[in-house]
Amino acid sequence: MGKPTGFLEFKREIPVDEAPLSRIGHYKEFHEHMEDGALRTQGSRCMDCGIPYCHTGKLLNGMAAGCPVHNLIPEWNDLVYRGLWREALDRLHKTNNFPEFTGRVCPAPCEGSCTVGLNGNSVTIKNIECSIIDHGFEAGWVKPQLPEKRTGKKVAVIGSGPSGLAAAAQLNKAGHTVTVFERADRAGGLLMYGIPNMKLDKAVVQRRVDLLAEEGVTFVLGTEVGKDYPVDKLKAEFDAVVLCGGATKGRDLPAEGRELKGIHLAMEFLHKNTKSLLDSNLEDGEYISAAGKDVIVIGGGDTGTDCVGTSLRHGCNSVYQFEIMPKAPDERAGNNPWPEWPKTYKMDYGQEEAAAKFGGDPRQYLISTKRFVGDDNGNLKEVHTVLIDWKKDSNGRFVPVEVPDSEKVFPAQLVLLALGFTGPEGGLLDQLGVEKDERSNAKAVYGQFATNVEGVFAAGDMRRGQSLVVWAINEGREAAREVDRYLMGATELP
Ligand SMILES: Cc1cc2nc3c(=O)[nH]c(=O)nc-3n(C[C@H](O)[C@H](O)[C@H](O)COP(=O)(O)OP(=O)(O)OC[C@H]3O[C@@H](n4cnc5c(N)ncnc54)[C@H](O)[C@@H]3O)c2cc1C
Ligand code: SF4
Repeated sequence: MGKPTGFLEFKREIPVDEAPLSRIGHYKEFHEHMEDGALRTQGSRCMDCGIPYCHTGKLLNGMAAGCPVHNLIPEWNDLVYRGLWREALDRLHKTNNFPEFTGRVCPAPCEGSCTVGLNGNSVTIKNIECSIIDHGFEAGWVKPQLPEKRTGKKVAVIGSGPSGLAAAAQLNKAGHTVTVFERADRAGGLLMYGIPNMKLDKAVVQRRVDLLAEEGVTFVLGTEVGKDYPVDKLKAEFDAVVLCGGATKGRDLPAEGRELKGIHLAMEFLHKNTKSLLDSNLEDGEYISAAGKDVIVIGGGDTGTDCVGTSLRHGCNSVYQFEIMPKAPDERAGNNPWPEWPKTYKMDYGQEEAAAKFGGDPRQYLISTKRFVGDDNGNLKEVHTVLIDWKKDSNGRFVPVEVPDSEKVFPAQLVLLALGFTGPEGGLLDQLGVEKDERSNAKAVYGQFATNVEGVFAAGDMRRGQSLVVWAINEGREAAREVDRYLMGATELP
């Protein structure tokens, strides 16, 4: 709790972001920090509600309600209100290894189930979380924590995204000797090469990777297990393996003209952009440029929004984002009550920027791509679309039905496909003999994380499918607990 009457006295306030037209001129983060006094006031709005749903992390209607890592939110809100930043940091690190990531990129399901949000504006939980950890780093309180003794057990973690990093951190804490294998040239998974720099500065990711290395975790980069490092060697050299390889196989769009030049999967666009940015400040030209182009992003989710934000920074001529679903309502619908995740209309950063530059939300709703049309040289020239309506079929399922005479032609020289992900890449699961679920992810029960192969565990997107950073951290932590139990017969990890 904060101040029992805080939520009655003070309004919700979040820091003012750098203006959209200014921030599209660079790739730096654009969220400003709030002063201590203002943050303490915001912490005081936590209302001693009795049953705080904000830290439950339950799935309601398939969406997270409350914090998946079970952050002790009312406790650190109170500590911030009282100015006890060091204690707030300790409390935050109890449940979350990497609050500097979630404090920047989490969609904050906690706020959707905050009790103040039942009939008012929820506490600014995510911003307070980010401020606690940033404060901690600035004050020099975040230091490498080496385990007191080593167990002599060796664990391999495959993949260095948030699930792999969380598993490595916890297993190292328990005294095991941990090696993280990563096929990319930098560690961090989608924190490094998916989420763009303006949302999460790569120096923030590298800082945590460096801390883990100082704590004793070994990182083997540029090494794809199953290709550059044989799985037999893996089984022979390690006592346990945690598969955290993500689910980054992009869904394609097999429409007419797909083979034209200028149509790319979103991840290719985003990965290359960040790599070129980090390697050479985009001077090596090793990225797909949207400069001067009419861009269509197909897919209305987070990945699509990141493509919009990146295209604007390149200096695109125009940008639209296609969404096959209808626009969400401004208020919660009757079948989406608190404390469920609120499925309401929001403008994310990319849409705000596009609106500032081109005069409106770039999203086009209820639209479907019919075909791509090119010029004589095989370059993309146009995207032909049709509007759709969702209607129930004879089995009572909603299906898209084309609206007659609704064809439209969009000029386009660059199309980015951000239609979601179909499962893990590569053949690592097959090589290890790991059973897969119906969505081609590693089959392992949540809470246990053991696969059908002795000593092999799976966590994060590779187990649950493309999800959120906070779920990946949760799974990495909990899988580490089960690996520790497997290796030692008992565990003290949470
Ligand atoms: C563009 C984009 C934007 C996103 N934005 C957000 C956001 O704003 N907020 C949010 O909460 N979530 C966001 N997400 C989702 C989030 O990034 C993921 O859910 C999360 O990173 C999953 O973590 P992970 O550790 O399971 O896997 P990943 O982060 O995918 O990491 C897996 C790693 O394993 C490596 N790997 C795979 N196979 C092998 C192998 N055989 N050998 C060695 N290495 C291997 C990969 O190279 C990769 O680095 C976004 C996702 C995308 C694609
Ligand atoms: S990790 Fe996400 S859900 Fe949990 S407190 Fe932070 S912003 Fe909220």
